Amino acid sequence: LDLRTEDLETLEELGAGNGGTVTKVMHIPTKTIMAKKTIYPQSLLDSPAFARISLNAPDPATVDQGFPSRPEKSVSMPASKGASAPPKQPERVATQRPARQRNQQLDQRLMVRRQIMREMQFLHDCNSEHIVSFYGAFMNGGDISMCMEYMDVGSLDKIYKESGPIPMNVLKKIAYAIVDGLIYLYDSHRIIHRDLKPCNVLVNSAGQIKICDFGVSGRLIDSVANTFVGTSSYMSPERILGSPYSVKSDVWSIGITLMELALGRFPFAPENKPLAIFELLQHIVNEPEPTLPKQGNYPEDLHNILALCLVKDVNKRATPADLMKTPYLLSAMSLKVDLEHWAKSHLK
Ligand code: ADP
Repeated sequence: LDLRTEDLETLEELGAGNGGTVTKVMHIPTKTIMAKKTIYPQSLLDSPAFARISLNAPDPATVDQGFPSRPEKSVSMPASKGASAPPKQPERVATQRPARQRNQQLDQRLMVRRQIMREMQFLHDCNSEHIVSFYGAFMNGGDISMCMEYMDVGSLDKIYKESGPIPMNVLKKIAYAIVDGLIYLYDSHRIIHRDLKPCNVLVNSAGQIKICDFGVSGRLIDSVANTFVGTSSYMSPERILGSPYSVKSDVWSIGITLMELALGRFPFAPENKPLAIFELLQHIVNEPEPTLPKQGNYPEDLHNILALCLVKDVNKRATPADLMKTPYLLSAMSLKVDLEHWAKSHLK
């Protein structure tokens, strides 16, 4: 599908997150309803974080030859506030450098955007019933937009915030969908999600549960990482302490997500009083792992799978494949739940 801005009619704003804004659109030539995520607003391109990365961007030719796609971050070049404010140069070269440097920066920005577009191509080959499907991506001015399947019921955080904790039988189906979707991403595409949380799990009125917003592009991750301003964190202790991501970091996020859906609130917010972000990160690293309240009548197999996900020591934490072998998920396939009825009851 060849997507162009002029073929898309905006229908509704769906939300805004760290990475950009999401709108409901109609692709006029095919009359297809889609969700369009604009990932890369111009403001991000102009941010110091971006300037730092783009100035160190490798030549696309070398990237294509299998050199590492992520340059070492460095602060050796001053961050630019866009084309109008080139960095100060010594008197002697001031007459020639700024214009050249400006062009170089613009070239590099374009190159980085093209690389992101290239890295997103694999989304066309992502076919899983538990992953939101991808229609295509395009560049428009300084922005990159990606169009994906529109999920009409919306995200799990919206559902539980409106209606309270997710029923236990539905939660088991959700857990199965998340773990199966993540295993598909790792096994078929070597992709780690990196940002699993209730608002990245979407539902449609057919009762399907799908994950979205995974770390498709190394470039994109580099450039939005510094803009993190969240008030709740699904990040594992080792990530907070600066270790690299592994599939097991996603497993921690699965645990927090399932616990949040079962409780109907973010697990680290005792009595619904949210912690400030610094306190929260400190709490995750220093305090014992969260558990569901014993008096809550939660099923034993749920307690057990959460205990495998929420292990601070990454070496002792389960892998997604281990989770699939737990009684909780082994019993999920044959469990009969009318997900369509449940989903439709949450349709606006
Ligand atoms: P965040 O960065 O907080 O995950 P996003 O920018 O990805 O948020 O999305 C914002 C909101 O837009 C989501 O919480 C969700 O409700 C909605 N949304 C995102 N993708 C879709 C989609 N494919 N279909 C329907 N709604 C969506």
